[in-house]
Amino acid sequence: MPMTQSFSELSLSPKIARAVAEMGYESMTPIQAQAIPVVLEGKDVMGAAQTGTGKTAAFSLPLLQRLLKHENASTSPARHPVRALVLLPTRELADQVAQQVKLYAKYTDLRSAVVFGGMDMKPQTLELKKGVEVLVATPGRLLDHIEAKNCVLNQVEYVVLDEADRMLDIGFLPDLQRILSHLPKTRTTLLFSATFSPEIKRLAGSYLQNPVTIEVARSNATASTVEQHFYRVEDDDKRLALKQILNERGLKQAFVFVNSKLGCARLARSLEREGLVTAALHGDKSQDERLKALEAFKSGAVDLLVCTDVAARGLDIKDVPAVFNFDIPFNAEDYVHRIGRTGRAGASGLAVSFVGGRDAKMIGDLEKLIAKKIDIEPFELASERRAPTGRFNDGQRAWRDPSTASAAPAPVRAPRPARPSADPLFDKPYEPSASSSAVPAWETTPAPSSRSALSPNIKPRKKVAALFKVAEPAQVPSGETEGA
Ligand code: AMP
Repeated sequence: MPMTQSFSELSLSPKIARAVAEMGYESMTPIQAQAIPVVLEGKDVMGAAQTGTGKTAAFSLPLLQRLLKHENASTSPARHPVRALVLLPTRELADQVAQQVKLYAKYTDLRSAVVFGGMDMKPQTLELKKGVEVLVATPGRLLDHIEAKNCVLNQVEYVVLDEADRMLDIGFLPDLQRILSHLPKTRTTLLFSATFSPEIKRLAGSYLQNPVTIEVARSNATASTVEQHFYRVEDDDKRLALKQILNERGLKQAFVFVNSKLGCARLARSLEREGLVTAALHGDKSQDERLKALEAFKSGAVDLLVCTDVAARGLDIKDVPAVFNFDIPFNAEDYVHRIGRTGRAGASGLAVSFVGGRDAKMIGDLEKLIAKKIDIEPFELASERRAPTGRFNDGQRAWRDPSTASAAPAPVRAPRPARPSADPLFDKPYEPSASSSAVPAWETTPAPSSRSALSPNIKPRKKVAALFKVAEPAQVPSGETEGA
């Protein structure tokens, strides 16, 4: 396969090349270098790539280039049928991709729109009825629009199934099958997935024709630029350990992953009570709340984003200096996704996992997945202010009976000299966006932030229901906990 590295080596139209130049991209990312020439030739692609690799541009740029032949300035909707359909699992991803497509298409007369659930259908309907060439959508809402005859898909030439593994995880297969049944058989189909599971291969087998397989990194590889630590920390000590590491490392922002929506909300609340500016991101949050949390984190107004896997999956937040696995994920692949938030695009990052007494099986699964032995280090709490047994703890809010508490494995506290930082990044404080305060929140008394910078696609006044209504288990189950 021919490999080019610079966008100028592609024969992109000056209109698209200009938009790319304005984005400030210097060279193509590996997925772009491999996928763009293939899509420009009109071939189907099966791409193994995660968010953060530049895959949106990898499919949007060649699609826009190939759609230019349909470009026209007519106001007639009939002259702007949907030619490319991009399907994504969540509203946030759909919104992000749509924003990128708009930027890449800004000097063309190609129109794009995004539709996702939880928002009023009317404005989306009006936009669809005017005609759009590129439609970005989540499957459920797209089906609503198809049923309401708001869009006609009989002239679709390109379909992108983005984050396909996640769409299947969420249970979108029947919706995808219905949508694909409305499309012309002769078309180009691009499928992107973090992993090529047997289900993904089956999906590809049914809907792709002689696809070119592109893999930019082993799907189960963890980024080598991420400094990873697994510390033995029991539930009662996790919050103290978290704060201690933030302080010792001089970290101003971090993602904190938990396994359940309930645990997510509780941990965020208890960290907030302890003076950290914290936002929770999980599937029971309204769309408005989720976008606000995200924007507050991006702007530096929030220090800790406590999130569940599904809510955080694929979000375009780069260069988070640290990711904490407050809970070890049930699904080993989620570990790879979680720590993919840090150490992106060559930047170094820190991933810290707290391993409790009940996590042995999950650690075993993870070792198998990453094909590496995990060294669980003892963690020495600097402070003796640890929560006494019998207090509410963060994840469970259960009263621990001292007589039964002793049955749980005791935290290991071997004395350990402070480790020198493995990376010079951690010798200097992390710089979030300019608007963030210079002093980390856990060293000051925080003022709650009401900052928000919503995407123009979102109407803030609209309070909406949870993304995908799945009953939330009260206790941590043995499978994935959130279906949002
Ligand atoms: P994606 O994986 O498509 O979500 O892209 C992740 C981020 O990388 C987005 O913010 C893009 O704007 C950015 N990006 C995409 N392509 C490039 C490139 N060639 N050079 C630098 N940044 C890029």
